[in-house]
Amino acid sequence: MSGFGSALRRLVVPTLGAVALAAGPAQAQRAARAEDFLGVTRCDSGQVVSEIREDVRRSDLRAEVEAHEAVHRQQAAAYGGCEAFLASLTTARRIIESELPAYCAQWKVAVARGADSVATRLDYAWRISAQSGAMENRLDITRRFRDECG
Ligand SMILES: [Zn+2]
Repeated sequence: MSGFGSALRRLVVPTLGAVALAAGPAQAQRAARAEDFLGVTRCDSGQVVSEIREDVRRSDLRAEVEAHEAVHRQQAAAYGGCEAFLASLTTARRIIESELPAYCAQWKVAVARGADSVATRLDYAWRISAQSGAMENRLDITRRFRDECG
């Protein structure tokens, strides 16, 4: 893994982790690091592969992160290939379109486990905003999350 593709994978598909989100506003402005992510979906010789961080695999969050990354694997397959899918994630809009259903699947698992549905939806909507670099759209993403993820 090196070069442009690697940077793209890091930026686009990973699920932002609680460590980054728990940080205060000043720290939250820094660039995301690999260890911030609970899970990553990437391409390996054209095959779509998800990796879930070791400590997450051993935690209660595992099912939620697995649900999220499973959606990205389905998206890659539906798009016609892993590399083509990742290469398509070049705009805030495309990132939002791929992350909304992934976080929706994650939200359903979290709520089924007892998480507060409204607070969790807001949390995930803001994660999508941060991940897409479209913070000015966060209210719209929250509305879409509510409308599209029932
Ligand atoms: Zn994602």
